[in-house]
This record gives sequence, C-alpha cells and structure tokens, in this order.
Amino acid sequence: MNKYLKKTKIIATLGPASSNRETITELIKAGVDIFRINFSHADYDLVKTNVNTIREVNKELGTNVGILGDLQGPKLRVGVVKEGSYLNPGDILTFTNEKIEGDSTRVYMTYQEFPNDVKVGERILIDDGKLVLQVLETNEKDTVKAVTIQGGPLSSKKGVNLPNTNVSLPALTEKDIQDANFMLDLELDWIALSFVRHAQDIKDLKKLIANHPTNKQKTPIIAKIEKPEGVKNIEQILLECDGLMVARGDLGVEVPMEEVPAIQKNLVEIARKYAKPVIIATQMMETMITSLTPTRAEVNDVANSVLDGADAVMLSGETSVGKYPVDVVKNMSKIVKNIESTHFYQNKNAPIEKEFNCIDDRFITNRICLAAVRIAKTTDVEAIITLTHSGYTAFQISAHRPNSHIIVFSSNKRVITMLNLLWGVRAYYYDSDKSTDETIIQVNKMTKELGYVEEEDFVINLNATPADEFGKTNTLRLTTI
Ligand code: PGA
Ligand code: MN
Repeated sequence: MNKYLKKTKIIATLGPASSNRETITELIKAGVDIFRINFSHADYDLVKTNVNTIREVNKELGTNVGILGDLQGPKLRVGVVKEGSYLNPGDILTFTNEKIEGDSTRVYMTYQEFPNDVKVGERILIDDGKLVLQVLETNEKDTVKAVTIQGGPLSSKKGVNLPNTNVSLPALTEKDIQDANFMLDLELDWIALSFVRHAQDIKDLKKLIANHPTNKQKTPIIAKIEKPEGVKNIEQILLECDGLMVARGDLGVEVPMEEVPAIQKNLVEIARKYAKPVIIATQMMETMITSLTPTRAEVNDVANSVLDGADAVMLSGETSVGKYPVDVVKNMSKIVKNIESTHFYQNKNAPIEKEFNCIDDRFITNRICLAAVRIAKTTDVEAIITLTHSGYTAFQISAHRPNSHIIVFSSNKRVITMLNLLWGVRAYYYDSDKSTDETIIQVNKMTKELGYVEEEDFVINLNATPADEFGKTNTLRLTTI
C-alpha cells in the first residue's frame, strides 16, 4: 500500500545484469525509483531499448520511475596492456602519448596534455587507487616517467586519478557533448556530470541543454562531487546545479579515504540548505555483486546514509553486473524502511530556517512551503498535497523533510518522473482548469484513492490563487479528508 512507501529513494544502475524487461519490472517492484544509465559504457541502441522498456513498464505498473543519464566527464584511463603485466614497488613506468600495447614498463595514457600538466613529485593512481606511482620526470611533450610506490597487477583500460594535478581537460569532452545531446533527444529526466570542479562546468552543460533543438524542458543537472576542487567550490556549484552526487568511488581516491565520511555529511547538509537533492553513491552493497548476503558494515552504511539525510542511495555494479540485482534492491528497501521507522530518523532533519535577506520572486512560495511543514509537524498532518508546474514547490517541501507524505500533482508529464528522485516526493498526473476549491476536492480524492490518506485525516493543500498563476504557490489550506 502506498501509505508505507519509503521516503529515501533508491537508484539502480542498468547494465548487462539488468537490461531486460523482466528484471526492470522486478527491480521497480522491489523499490527502484530512478534508473541510472552510465555513459562510460553505453551502447546507444541498448540505451534506447532500455528507456522504452522503463517507460512501458511505468505505464503497466502505474509507477513514475525516472531515468538519470550519467556523463563520463574527463575520466582518464590507461590503454590496452599485455595480459599479466605487474608493477612492483620501485619499478619505473613510462606513460606515453603513443597508442601502444602497454606492459610493465610502458603504457598509453588517454590524456594528451598529461606531460604538460603534471609536475615532478605528483601522484598517479591507477585502478581506483590500487596502484600508486609518483612522477619522476616529464619531457613536457609526450612522455612521463614515474616510480611505483604501491604495486600490483596493471590491466587494460583502468581508470587513472591525478589528485594533485591541475588537469586542463574541459569538463565536457567531445564524447560528453555527443552523449548529452543523445540524452536530450531521449528526454531523460536528469543528467549527471562527472568530476565537476567549478560552477563553470555546470554552466557549460546548461548552455548545451538550452541550445538543444527539440528538448524543451530545463533538464536538471546532478553535479558529481569526486574531486577536491569540487568539494572546495561546493557553494558556487550548488548555485548552478540542481542536485549533488557524493561519488565516493573516485572521491575516495582523489582525497584521503578517511576524509570521505565527513565530506559525505557536509555535502548532505549543505545540499539540503539549497533545497537540492543529494545522492550517496558507490559500494553501498558491493559484496552482493557476488554474494546473497551483504556485510553488516554495508547494511550499516546504507542505514547511516539514510540517517545523514540523503535523498537517494545508489547502486552501481550491484545492479549493473552483479549476480543478484533484484535481491540487492529488496535488501536495500528493507534497510531503508527499517531505519526510517525509528525515532533516530523521525527526530532528525528539522525544517531549514533559511536566512531570507533576499526577497526574490520565489520568496512567497518558499515561506508557504516552510509554513506547511511547520504546521504538518505540529498538527499530525498525514499529507502535504501540492500542484506544481516546474517542480519547484516539491523541491522546497522535500528539503524540509516533513514526516507527512508529499503528494504532488502536475500536468507536466516530464516533471512527474523527474521528481521521483526527491526525498519523500510522490508525483502524479493531474490536469484541470477548475477553481481552487474544486481542485482541492479533486486532488484530495485522488490522494485517498492512491491509499496515502483515510477519512478524517488532516491534509495541507498548497495552491496558486488565482488557479492559472503558474509558479506562485501562495495559498495554504488545512483540511480534513
Ligand atoms: P562512477 O561515479 O560510477 O561514474 O565512477 C560514481 C563514483 O565515482 O563513485
Ligand atoms: Mn566516478
């Protein structure tokens, strides 16, 4: 029954293990709210098929699961390497711009400006930091020599992180531009950008979105925070983006891993102040890629991320290449629901009292949303019910984390699936040009039919009055069903 849906959302990455109709259907039934398509490994035909399947299954099940396209960004990699290549501490490895088949002495690097950008003494991390090297010399043209500090197997196409280097690559590579346009052709609900360093990276993607010939919606952007610069510039980035991802995989390589938990807590807190959703990602249920049982530490990590105040928790390899994609989501749903039902959770996350020294055109909506949540908390309101065109009102209410349901109605179909990422928000289609009085009767009836409220329950209705004034939620009404 809808009344018992979880508040924190689950994102599942699609991949070979989940790219079929049965699994997609089972994943949605198990609690997936958003599918992520990782364009580091995407085949356009398969993406199209998956997107169509998700949309068809949504119709079949009456769900509104959204789709997030994830751009690779300036991810660096080594080239192909001979089977069995191995680095021991002290071994010298030469990085070259020449497209050779690599071995334990020489390897191709996909990033042509590397010899120019890197400085002697800087660190090179390969394969999620499993291999650690230090730069000995660069000819500033096409060759860099480095000494191995931490050794291990060197295999093909592994990712490279340069935590200390000022990488001159643009945030949007040629591949990203092509992939972003393809995502916009398909009208995906969210676009994520990897390795965001400053606000300008988001501005560049916004410009591309605005210039797309057919996409008429302002597709919202998730800034993936996985570099030290992204952490440092978070306030300016939040002014431009629409949501954050704590991308712990690369972040834990780019900054000392012991700093990641505190960064996670900081990012969650600050994103909520800006009323923008935040996703916690990577290795949440990693063990379940090959085993039916997660470790107790993983169970704790999911629950603690929920307690931190995440809007969504994300699965990567677990659902894209793992053996048990549906079981992972079932377990994750259980963990989320359980911790949400405790007093630890319900007493957390007080409404955010922002300092409103700037009175802009959203001021009235912001104050109405805050008032709604305050009343909801003190009056045992079962649901806050609102209409939205752009989704703005839903972002505001969600950020205040009310205990009541957040039921959103919109005539804008794309907004409905987009909002499915937000904490606690459940959005449905409703279109009418009726008066405010008539609209409230209608949406309350629908909310009851959907199973969120019962006879006699208190609900708060937020509306724009007069009813045809888009984007100005200025009216609050406390009613009973
Ligand atoms: P990725 O991003 O899976 O696209 O690398 C998430 C992360 O780095 O944690
Ligand atoms: Mn990453």
